[in-house]
Amino acid sequence: MLNIEKYPIQKDDIKDRMFQLITACYPICRSITGDGVRETIEIIRKIIPLDKHEVPSGTKVYDWEIPKEWNIKQAYIKDPNGNVIVDYKRHNLHVLNYSIPIRKRVGLDELKKHLYTIPEQPDLIPYRNSYYRENWGFCLSHNQMIRLKEGTYEVVIDTSLEDGHLTYGEYFIQGNSSEEILISTHICHPSLCNDNLSGIAVSTYLAKYLGEQTTRYSYRFLFIPVTIGSIAWLSLNEQNLKIKHGLVLALLGDLSDFTYKRTRKGNSEIDSVIEHCLQHSNKTYTIKDFIPYGYDERQYCSPGINLSVGCFTRAPYGEFPEYHTSADNLEFVKPDALAESLATLYEALFVLENNLKYVSKYPKCEPQLGKRGLYQQIGGTNEGKVTQLAALWVLNMSDGNYSLLDIAKKSGIQFTVIKNAADALINCDLIEKYAKEL
Ligand code: ZN
Repeated sequence: MLNIEKYPIQKDDIKDRMFQLITACYPICRSITGDGVRETIEIIRKIIPLDKHEVPSGTKVYDWEIPKEWNIKQAYIKDPNGNVIVDYKRHNLHVLNYSIPIRKRVGLDELKKHLYTIPEQPDLIPYRNSYYRENWGFCLSHNQMIRLKEGTYEVVIDTSLEDGHLTYGEYFIQGNSSEEILISTHICHPSLCNDNLSGIAVSTYLAKYLGEQTTRYSYRFLFIPVTIGSIAWLSLNEQNLKIKHGLVLALLGDLSDFTYKRTRKGNSEIDSVIEHCLQHSNKTYTIKDFIPYGYDERQYCSPGINLSVGCFTRAPYGEFPEYHTSADNLEFVKPDALAESLATLYEALFVLENNLKYVSKYPKCEPQLGKRGLYQQIGGTNEGKVTQLAALWVLNMSDGNYSLLDIAKKSGIQFTVIKNAADALINCDLIEKYAKEL
């Protein structure tokens, strides 16, 4: 079982280490395939023993096919005077991600058909991709675009689109049970910090600390390109799925409140666990019902798969001004926010790990607590009174039908207090684990 006292995330340097990981990965031009993903996986492998998987281009995965692998050497635009005015090496958002190779001279009108800007945020470079439709293009600030003069421009995009592989990372932690908790995060975005180097950093350190402990559940961490990665993984692993609970992690480094999107089932144990942790966090938060839009929960919660996978973020998908722009940078993500995200997730997994059912050995009237020293164990302070009440709740509801989280919800008492009370009752031999869960 996890032991929250051993909670390693309170170490001061965790948030700095997560931020260092983000800083190391930030300059890399990632995409849904290619060397950027491999390079990122190598960086993560310095922290956790990630397995690298390669799925060949052309592999059929449900209704999809693994695309050709995309790699890039350079991409720039020269103005009519021969000056480089847009350069992928200055910011990798400047190239339309998955651009086909091109080398030609074009007039301003034709060039503008291949330029992407955000008129409402005229100083920012947008992030755009063209994954499943062959196209070329550049992204730049709207202010730069409107200053372009008539004339002939030279455009060079030195990319390759060839048979290769889709790359993803996987880390499996064997627990006491073969039932798994899936943690999935997307690894395909180029230089964007919150979306999703934050998810990568939090997942990596969550994996690191779970891997150092004995756990009830097994854990499977996936670092995958969005959509095609989860489709590929599900297609290749459908026969062996043992996932009992899961979370898609993304957007965990900004200062917004937490947002939790429920599983498609809407009443899964993971839904109750996250809602309970957020309720007792003394912070504002948002809970949303499942919608078939967002990240890889769309695939995990497709009707023929229907896993209990929710999505945990801070600012919701697409709903912050920096989203998919050059403003989603190293200044936008905050080490304290990363640390809080990690701590909240760790706490949720603690609840899942310890959410067991017990049975009272003295179900006929209350057992006498005083003679067993239980009152001394739980003390006379205000906190002690809560614990005494928690003990009475656990004794009363431990008939094999209710888990500790059910008792926490029914009583309105935080899970950890209920868990501590249950531990004290076990020590006094008043309750035992429900036989079916042994
Ligand atoms: Zn995104």
